[in-house]
Amino acid sequence: MKRFDLDYYLNGLKAENTVVLAQAITLIESKRRSDQDLGDLILTEILKEAEPSIRIGITGTPGVGKSSFIEGFGSFLISQGKKVAVLAIDPSSQRTGGSILGDKTRMEMLSKNPKAYIRPSASGSALGGVNNRTRESILLCEAAGFDAIIVETVGVGQSETLVNNMVDFFLLMIQPGSGDDLQGIKKGIMEMANGIVINKADGDQAKLAKRSKTDLLSALHLFAISDSGWQTQVELCSALEHKGFDKVWSMISSFEKQMKGNGLFAQNRCSQNVTWFEDRVNLGLLQVLTSQPELTRLHQQLKYKVQENECSVSQATAELLALARQLLA
Ligand code: GDP
Repeated sequence: MKRFDLDYYLNGLKAENTVVLAQAITLIESKRRSDQDLGDLILTEILKEAEPSIRIGITGTPGVGKSSFIEGFGSFLISQGKKVAVLAIDPSSQRTGGSILGDKTRMEMLSKNPKAYIRPSASGSALGGVNNRTRESILLCEAAGFDAIIVETVGVGQSETLVNNMVDFFLLMIQPGSGDDLQGIKKGIMEMANGIVINKADGDQAKLAKRSKTDLLSALHLFAISDSGWQTQVELCSALEHKGFDKVWSMISSFEKQMKGNGLFAQNRCSQNVTWFEDRVNLGLLQVLTSQPELTRLHQQLKYKVQENECSVSQATAELLALARQLLA
């Protein structure tokens, strides 16, 4: 098989070639050391020529209408002159109520649009479709000329926090519901969201959606305004009837304008870089440590002992770290 070199990727990305983009993402997701090294070289080079972009995170429970929304909203953004990349959840890795959504073709129309690129993430369900290479994938998409990046996640474990740490605007999608349903939304997610979209505001549910909006707005007023001065907004939308996309976009645009005006847009990206750096260092250190056979052996033994109650967690940790320090000294 032909080995691609740095220039192959850099030229391909510059030419906005989506085949090369897909290959570059596969490269950075690879577990092979040589692939990762080349991936890092690519990332270093493309960062020198970064173009402006908007990164949007979307979260919501399965069935709320994320893929329908992204399909319609993505086309809307393209009509506004954007090129849209979507880092989406691979339906084959997602389960809802025991049924696998593998047969569902998500975002079929958008995927055929030459100004769109959709990359399903096969990272399994643990992180809700986000993996520790999603950040790098965003940068690669931007290098290939995509200026609106949508990162989708389902609310699993830490996925919302992870995504929030890599996007400019974080959108929570919900369905019309009663006050009780709305109370079920995790407070942490509400606070994290820069905007909330109530989807399926159509047909029989249109009235309920309006009421939900009023309820949500009064609930949001109980939260302190974030340090950025931005007050979370709520918009109604029907992905099915293609209604409300313009309002959602104008919400995102006014957020962008305000954050660029007060300097927080760039500042947020800088602090996200620090988080990214810390995550990579932690991961790297872990790899350094787990590549030490002596340490891996002791780790396994201690794990067994902890499980069998032969050793306390603090004792086992101290013993393992003592060996790690000794090996690193
Ligand atoms: P996801 O799991 O969050 O990606 O949700 P989907 O986009 O797959 O949508 C789940 C179901 O809700 C599908 O049957 C859609 O047709 C339906 N749906 C999505 N958006 C709307 C909407 O705006 N209005 C109505 N009535 N149904 C919708």
